Amino acid sequence: MGLLYRCTSCDREMVLESYHQGRTVPCPWCDAKEDVPENLDFDTVYSNRAKDEERGKLLLALSVAGGLLSCLPVTAIVWWMSSGRIALAREEQREADPLLLNARVLAAVATIVHLLIWIGICVGSGVVG
Ligand SMILES: [Zn+2]
Repeated sequence: MGLLYRCTSCDREMVLESYHQGRTVPCPWCDAKEDVPENLDFDTVYSNRAKDEERGKLLLALSVAGGLLSCLPVTAIVWWMSSGRIALAREEQREADPLLLNARVLAAVATIVHLLIWIGICVGSGVVG
């Protein structure tokens, strides 16, 4: 299983294998020589990628449940947690799991809709304004 690595010259992605660690690899797009860090942690990246898929499923289910039950804290937490996993994936220069991206969008939409509904209820009942 390869690891996506962004070329520092042309910014396009190339696939690295664990045997590339600590070696100089030519970019397949621009032929620039890339020094692959010796300490590029393939094991951690692989296990984080597998974890992302697992978390993505859970967070997507939670955002649907939180949305249907109109539970604002749940959708807000899902948004926060999925954002954290997406940021980690970007840090490790790999694609974020699509399940995480979907969970974050769904949680953000559900959070905003519920906020608007609650503001509407408060304004409508004369609690605010
Ligand atoms: Zn390149």
